Amino acid sequence: MFVVPDVSRDRQTDAPANSPLAAYTTLRLGGEPGTLTVAVETDQAVTTVRNASAEGRPVLVLAGGSNVVIGDAGFPGEVLLLRTRGIEVVSTRADDVVVRVAAGEVWDDFVEYAVTNGWSGVEFLSGIPGSAGATPIQNVGAYGSEVADTIVAVHAYDRERDAVRAMTPAECAFAYRASVFKHSDRYLVLHVDFRLAVSTESAPIRYAELARSLGAEAGDRVSLRQARDTVRKLREQKGMVLAPDDHDTWSVGSFFTNPVVSGERWAALGLDHAPHWPGEDGSVKIPAAWLIEHAGFPKGFAGAGVSISTKHTLALTNRGEGTTTALLDLARTIRGGVLEKFGIELHPEPVLINCEL
Ligand SMILES: Cc1cc2nc3c(=O)[nH]c(=O)nc-3n(C[C@H](O)[C@H](O)[C@H](O)COP(=O)(O)OP(=O)(O)OC[C@H]3O[C@@H](n4cnc5c(N)ncnc54)[C@H](O)[C@@H]3O)c2cc1C
Repeated sequence: MFVVPDVSRDRQTDAPANSPLAAYTTLRLGGEPGTLTVAVETDQAVTTVRNASAEGRPVLVLAGGSNVVIGDAGFPGEVLLLRTRGIEVVSTRADDVVVRVAAGEVWDDFVEYAVTNGWSGVEFLSGIPGSAGATPIQNVGAYGSEVADTIVAVHAYDRERDAVRAMTPAECAFAYRASVFKHSDRYLVLHVDFRLAVSTESAPIRYAELARSLGAEAGDRVSLRQARDTVRKLREQKGMVLAPDDHDTWSVGSFFTNPVVSGERWAALGLDHAPHWPGEDGSVKIPAAWLIEHAGFPKGFAGAGVSISTKHTLALTNRGEGTTTALLDLARTIRGGVLEKFGIELHPEPVLINCEL
């Protein structure tokens, strides 16, 4: 059953061939592409990648542009702008459905659609920018939830085998903000299958801040709509929902991942007073935002046309006149300061294209 092939919104088929890539990134940064192809059909996306491979040209797959930092010199190859659409229910049981989502679908539109249909499992991931097809790339997560909780298959074009195949979650090797897809150009994700519970109630709440905002306890369930609205509100307060006029949202979300250290390392650091999340294997995750603030970089800390968001310490933002060079200079300053103060190295969460930290 085909449910909502939503083609009503702007599909950006009129993208000018050599417009700077800044036009397609949430940072509004990035120079010119070699060539740019907009794909609205899955076959067209595969053909574009296959042809570029045959000609030995590098390929950059770009969807929502919300997790990439592209160099000021742009990308000297084929940029594939993915705008495929379609949401399809591929199996239904009494308690759950499997929903296949085209890679170019806007992620938050899919979340809204799931909530409207009474499908539970992705509601805590409301408000995250970008496409459905990019969610497996870094195993997108927020508020105690991640897409690995619901993904049952990723349908991808494998450039090495020149074939489309369905990959199991084990093959995807999902981990914290990581998967087999991240930092690899082997796969083009075409569709993602999510198994969602048929329920008007959310998954159990696992995140303390969210539970507090909902007036609930960890483990409680609330209505899907309440979960979605509350998450979006919390995110908006932190500049974590895109708003074109708000420079605090001209970012890639969190610029650094939260460092994870071994139990011994944690004990040696003497940071018991700092917020932290113990892992099941004895490791400890430390909020990068806390480290950054306590290394002397407050919200609003500025570089040349760029700054830490005034709403969230982990977001590095373009204030309108920024460049990728300036953004990475700021990131280096912060990373160096945290290393000097705590001996902990921060790692970037976005994918760096034709530039380095
Ligand atoms: C304000 C803001 C808040 C954010 N909050 C969160 C958050 O809470 N949690 C979180 O995890 N992330 C968050 N992000 C990061 C980002 O939104 C996600 O990582 C998102 O999934 C990226 O989707 P995209 O379509 O924009 O990917 P892009 O930026 O276009 O691409 C990102 C990477 O994935 C690759 N890629 C994209 N699509 C495909 C495909 N179909 N096949 C193969 N490779 C592909 C690209 O080549 C690139 O390497 C946030 C970003 C912003 C700007």
